[in-house]
Amino acid sequence: MVKVAIIGGGASGCFAAIQIQEFSKNSFDVSIFEKSKEPLSKLRISGGGRCNVTHDLKDPELLSLKYPRGQKELRWAFESFQPSDTIEWFRNKGVALKVESDGRMFPITDSSETIIECFIKEIENRKINLHLQKGIQSIFIEGIDESQKFKLVFEDNSEQYFDKVILASGSNRKSWKWMEALGHNIIDPVPSLFTLGIEDSSILSLSGLSMPNASIRISPKGKWQNAPLLITHWGFSGPAALRLSAWEARSLFDLNYKTEIEINWLGNINSQELEKIFLEYKEEYSSSKISNKKYPDFPSRLWEWFLTDCNIDKDKKWIDLSKNEIRSLANSICHSKFQMTSKGVFKEEFVTAGGISRKDINFKTMQSKKIPNLYFTGEVIDVDGITGGFNFQNAWTTATLAAKDICKTF
Ligand SMILES: Cc1cc2nc3c(=O)[nH]c(=O)nc-3n(C[C@H](O)[C@H](O)[C@H](O)COP(=O)(O)OP(=O)(O)OC[C@H]3O[C@@H](n4cnc5c(N)ncnc54)[C@H](O)[C@@H]3O)c2cc1C
Repeated sequence: MVKVAIIGGGASGCFAAIQIQEFSKNSFDVSIFEKSKEPLSKLRISGGGRCNVTHDLKDPELLSLKYPRGQKELRWAFESFQPSDTIEWFRNKGVALKVESDGRMFPITDSSETIIECFIKEIENRKINLHLQKGIQSIFIEGIDESQKFKLVFEDNSEQYFDKVILASGSNRKSWKWMEALGHNIIDPVPSLFTLGIEDSSILSLSGLSMPNASIRISPKGKWQNAPLLITHWGFSGPAALRLSAWEARSLFDLNYKTEIEINWLGNINSQELEKIFLEYKEEYSSSKISNKKYPDFPSRLWEWFLTDCNIDKDKKWIDLSKNEIRSLANSICHSKFQMTSKGVFKEEFVTAGGISRKDINFKTMQSKKIPNLYFTGEVIDVDGITGGFNFQNAWTTATLAAKDICKTF
């Protein structure tokens, strides 16, 4: 019997174990080694306890664009296993998923427990050996070619031999060190998916307000990220801020999270276009007070914040607004600048950018290019997605590819 060890009982490790037994009709000897007391602990708290399992984006090309790191490699991996396969997989196991308006998919129970129960049932039924509190201390390779075996040394100093190993240990510095010792390059890990803390500013008094279609970038030349933006009591959050944190994870780390950020509260409308719109307002709503006739999308308090920012009296009528005031208002809305001073925690999801270099992995099989029969799945690899279920999809896809390869001779 082929003996497979999976290091890490998280999302990708458990999924890989189940897929191996599904493809091999339960005929492999599969063991999951998890260092903590329970498996799937990150999945349990994921998506605010609801587990955002995947995203309703089923075109592999468009889907791959959601990964700041791993786009090119996942493009082809998704041809083998993508969100429609995830949905089908869970449906076959009796777990129905639902889509939210932004495309995120959750179990209809709105509880991560549903996913955990499904995995545990599969693990039991398929006779997968789940060892808890069994951390791996180190890995050795003994023998060559056909006789190659992996020797796993556990934290309790016991040892076991395996034919194949899947490293599914998530963002874990210790396992990156072992892999470095085995000849793999490790891309420096840095945090991704965080909120943006800013210097004390009167905008913070508007905490809780959001704009549905704002753009944000590192000033002056960063790439704009366009999505809903939320003002919090200490900075910015919501999809636009989180996307910026993902795409600029490395630059923001290098800047020690201290930099100027720029916001266009109207996303795709530029200040010249907005100026023109305001000149039309001046004609059309000449006798209305500027505070009463605001640009449609703005919450009143945010609109008033811009008027204060530009020293415009809110009781002024549109007709009395000077050209300079109109220019300054458009400019303030389309080029708001804030000093970022720190990164915060986004409670619903966060990941690490960096890990095992993608260049050292064959993404058709998830096998190491340095050591045969050694596989990588999930977050241990230098792959991460933006928020929305893309990180779990990476775990399901890479786990399935590894399982398929392990079972290919079956
Ligand atoms: C708060 C939070 C919420 C999230 N919400 C979402 C979400 O809703 N949607 C989404 O797509 N993504 C979400 N993510 C990201 C997602 O959880 C990860 O991308 C995913 O869990 C990665 O799976 P993994 O199996 O690679 O790693 P992990 O889930 O981190 O599992 C790795 C496992 O390996 C174990 N391990 C490590 N070292 C050893 C060792 N030496 N020996 C034995 N075991 C070891 C760890 O204890 C852990 O259980 C969230 C992340 C966080 C932190």
